Amino acid sequence: MTLENDSVKYRDLAEYVRSTRMCSTHEHTEFETAYLENPPDILGNLFDNYVVNDLVVAGASTKSVQRLFDQRLDVRDRFQGVAEAWQRSQFTGYGQGVRLIAEHVYGVTEITGEALEQHKFKYPGMPGERLQLLRDVANLDHVQIDSVDWNVPSEAAGQDFFLYDINLCRFCDGTPDLDKIGRELQIEVTDLAALRRAIELIFERNGPLAVAVKSQHAYHRTLRWQKRDETNASEALKTWIRDGANTSIETKNCLGDWCIEKIAHLAAKHNLAFKIHTGYLNNVGGFQVKVSSSECLHELMHAHPRTRFVLMHITYPYEDELVAVAKQFPNVAVDLCWAWSLNPLATSRFVLSMINAVPSNKIFAFGGDSRLPAASVGYAFQARIWLLKTLESAVNDGWMTEPQAIELAKRLMVANQYEFFDLADKKARLRTAKKLHLKPSENSSIKQLDDWTHSVWNARPEAYGV
Ligand SMILES: [Zn+2]
Repeated sequence: MTLENDSVKYRDLAEYVRSTRMCSTHEHTEFETAYLENPPDILGNLFDNYVVNDLVVAGASTKSVQRLFDQRLDVRDRFQGVAEAWQRSQFTGYGQGVRLIAEHVYGVTEITGEALEQHKFKYPGMPGERLQLLRDVANLDHVQIDSVDWNVPSEAAGQDFFLYDINLCRFCDGTPDLDKIGRELQIEVTDLAALRRAIELIFERNGPLAVAVKSQHAYHRTLRWQKRDETNASEALKTWIRDGANTSIETKNCLGDWCIEKIAHLAAKHNLAFKIHTGYLNNVGGFQVKVSSSECLHELMHAHPRTRFVLMHITYPYEDELVAVAKQFPNVAVDLCWAWSLNPLATSRFVLSMINAVPSNKIFAFGGDSRLPAASVGYAFQARIWLLKTLESAVNDGWMTEPQAIELAKRLMVANQYEFFDLADKKARLRTAKKLHLKPSENSSIKQLDDWTHSVWNARPEAYGV
């Protein structure tokens, strides 16, 4: 059977899913400068990603995981220290990602010390390698990067592959960085009016070239949002200015809720989606709290019908609840970023459940959620494999034809993202944008932000003291 899709002919669903350029709506890709400064070697490319969590849970020692990334030492030796933990982890979602990196980046089908030694010189960290891996090997249309900073960096201008979010987590946490506001925006925050102005200025400067606003405040506070009045928020800000880190969580939540309201309003005004981390927290031995569920956001989404919300990571392990939330709100979409690698089987079931309950314009199929391009490659292959399996099961069960499954795949992999993020317009702006007014991308702010817990490098054992 030959099928027509965007004037390209696809023999079948499998070919479509395998060969279509897919959007990645969530990554933490390092800036080019940071990548070249400290390029990963083969063990970094394979293991310096979420799988370190599984290695530790499987019994690897802190020291052996640290040695794994020490490029001064011998490759075989470094791998040997985690070899047993790797054997135990190879079938998890993260483990599948590692095997796919080995296969598609290095052409290695079985990970052994010998095989690693043989392929260690591939991808040495050359200029353009980042783009090559993400665009040509992972076959991505573009990546949307959260650099954990509110500035769109200079490397965003003059191209349309690396798109950037405005990260406003500290505002949503209710712990706005007053020094950074003073330094970068020349605003001294003494009252709510000044804080409001700071948020507005961030949108004015970065909004035209950003793709979305992002916050991962679920790591630090409840997602439960309520409207706060100016008097209480003003008191909360005074306390934050005076007491800083000693401010109570209730007071921070009050100020955070007030900021979230402003951000939701401004996101709509600047035609930007508002991405919010929901569900599972990336750590080992930390607790997974129900207050990071999407259900906590009802009031926020209800109060801002003009704001487009993206609820990330399928709210795992509360994904059934997310199906109901997505069914209720025209302004909510769900993002499968990080979900396939977290638990591919649960994500597959979630996609089937979504298709059966929610209009099909609500799902974005992929985001690798990774710092290193090689990890995004592995997770992109994984997403295609599992998405195909999922849609094939719908076809085989007889409730969808193959041409319909291809149409649906197109929506999930590309079309929904272009529609929801207004990508045709956004990309055109970026292609013609000048680097003026954008912050230089010399340093990866990702590495500098040490209180950010949703990151694989912070998830390394030394960061949580295992
Ligand atoms: Zn992320």
